[in-house]
Amino acid sequence: MKFVGITKRWFLNVASIVIIILVAISVALIFSLRSYYYSAAAMTLDSYSSEEIASSINLYGDTSEKGFETAGRKFVETFPDKETMAVWLIDSSGNIVLSSSGFEIKGEVEMPDYAMALVNDEGSAKWTGKLPSGEKIMASTCIYDYPNGTHGGAIRFMVSMEAIDEQLIRICLLIISACVALFSLVVISGSFFTRSIVNPVKSIDETAKRIAGGDLEARIDHYPYNDELGDLCTTINDMATKLAATDRLKNDFISTVSHELRTPLTAIKGWGETLLQIGDTDPTMTERGMGVIISEASRLNDMVEELLDFSRMSSGRLQLKNEKIDILAELDEVVFAFKERSMREGIELVYNAPRVLAPATGDSARIKQVFINILDNAIKYTKHGGKINVIAERPNKATLVISVSDTGAGISPEDLPHIKEKFFKANTTVRGSGIGLAVADEIVKLHNGELEISSVLGEGTTVKITLPIERAERDSSEKEGDSKTDEHKEEM
Ligand code: ADP
Repeated sequence: MKFVGITKRWFLNVASIVIIILVAISVALIFSLRSYYYSAAAMTLDSYSSEEIASSINLYGDTSEKGFETAGRKFVETFPDKETMAVWLIDSSGNIVLSSSGFEIKGEVEMPDYAMALVNDEGSAKWTGKLPSGEKIMASTCIYDYPNGTHGGAIRFMVSMEAIDEQLIRICLLIISACVALFSLVVISGSFFTRSIVNPVKSIDETAKRIAGGDLEARIDHYPYNDELGDLCTTINDMATKLAATDRLKNDFISTVSHELRTPLTAIKGWGETLLQIGDTDPTMTERGMGVIISEASRLNDMVEELLDFSRMSSGRLQLKNEKIDILAELDEVVFAFKERSMREGIELVYNAPRVLAPATGDSARIKQVFINILDNAIKYTKHGGKINVIAERPNKATLVISVSDTGAGISPEDLPHIKEKFFKANTTVRGSGIGLAVADEIVKLHNGELEISSVLGEGTTVKITLPIERAERDSSEKEGDSKTDEHKEEM
C-alpha cells in the first residue's frame, strides 16, 4: 500500500485515531486491572488489623509483659492462611524471630511498613517492595502493645505479588495482541476501502484525460457499486457520449453548411461566367441570369444571417428589440410571402386567423423569422399535392396560439425528442442546416412563449407556437366591426 494521496489522508485521519483510541483503552484497562489486583491483595492484608491481632494474641494466653512472643509464636504456627500469605513474628526490638515458612530470616531486611506502623496511630502500615531474594511482595505490619502501653512486638503479613504481576503481564500481552489484531483488521479493511476508491478515481482520471485529449470514444469501465463514484462514472460516460454526439453533429453541420453554401455559389459563379461570355447580346438571357444571381445571393444572405443568429444564440448574445408589435400582422405578412412558393410547389396553403389585434412587446423581425423557419420546413418536407394549414387562435385574451400543420414526411418517434436540438437533422436528403428549429425555439422562449412539435411519420407534422399577448387598446371587434365573433377565416 503506497502512502500517497487518499491512502495517506485515510491513514493520517482514521488509522492514527484508531491507534490513539486503542492505546488509550489498553492503558486504561491495564491500569484498572493492576489497581484491581493490587487492591484485592491489599484487602487480603487488611483482613488482619492490629485489634484483631491483639484479640488473637490474647486468645493464646499471657498478655503480661514479655508474654507476646510466646503468644505470637502460637499465632504464627497455627496461622490458617499460610498457603497464600507469609507471616513473621517481630519482637519488641524489631528482630524477626519466627517465620511461618519455618526458615530463618537472616541479614538486614527492609521493612518500611514496620517502621511506619510503629509511629502511626493505627498501629499498622502497608508497603509494596522487594525482599532481599528479589521477590516482589506487599507487606502489612500490625503492632502489638501491651494493655499498659509497653511495646510488645509486631506481626508482619506478606503476600507475593509475583503471581499477580505475571497475570498482569499475560493480560497486557493479550490486550496488546487484541489491539494489534484489531488495528490490522482496520488497516486491511481500510486498504480495501481506499483501494475501492483510489482505483476507480485513477480510472476516471485516465478516461477524463483521454476525453480531454480528444478521444471521445473513451469510457470508464463498469463500476460495481451503486454510490457517488458510480454516479460520477455514469455522468462522465454520459458526458463523453453527448460530446461524441455533438462532435458528430458539428462535423455533419460543417459538411451540410459547406454543401448548402456551395450550391448557390456554383449557380452565381456559373451565371456570372455565362453573362460575361454573352455580354449584352441576349437581354432575355441576361435578365434570367441576373434574376438567378440575385435570388441565390439572397438565399446565401439568409443562410449567413441564420448562421450568425445561431452563433449569437449559442453565445447568449441573441438580443431582442423591445418594440410594440402585432404578432398576427407579422404572421399575415409571412404567410402572404409563402403563398407564391407554395403554389409553385403545388402545395395548398390554408390560412385561418381571427381578425383581431395580437399586440405584444418583442422583435418583429425575429418573430417573422420563427414563422419563416416553420413554414419553410413545412413546404420543404411536404410533397407536391400536399396541404399546409396555418391556424391562429386566441384561446383567451392573454394568449395567441399559432399552429402550422402539414401533410408532409412527418418525423419518427425516435427523432422527435431531438428535433429542436442544434445541428439535428432527421431528414438528411432535404437541404437544411439543422439549426432552424433551434433558433426558432430560442426566439419563442425569449418572447416568453413555447414551441411544441407533434408528428406522425408519413402523415405530417404540427408545430404549435404559444405566445403571450397584451390587452389590445381596441379589441378584435373594433378591427372587424363585429362584436359577436372574433374569428375570421381567410383562405389563400
Ligand atoms: P433544417 O434546416 O434541417 O430543416 P430544422 O432545425 O429546421 O433544420 O429542422 C430540424 C429537422 O427537423 C429537419 O432536418 C427535419 O428532419 C425535421 N423537421 C422539421 N420540420 C419538419 C416538418 N415540417 N416535417 C418533417 N420534418 C421536419
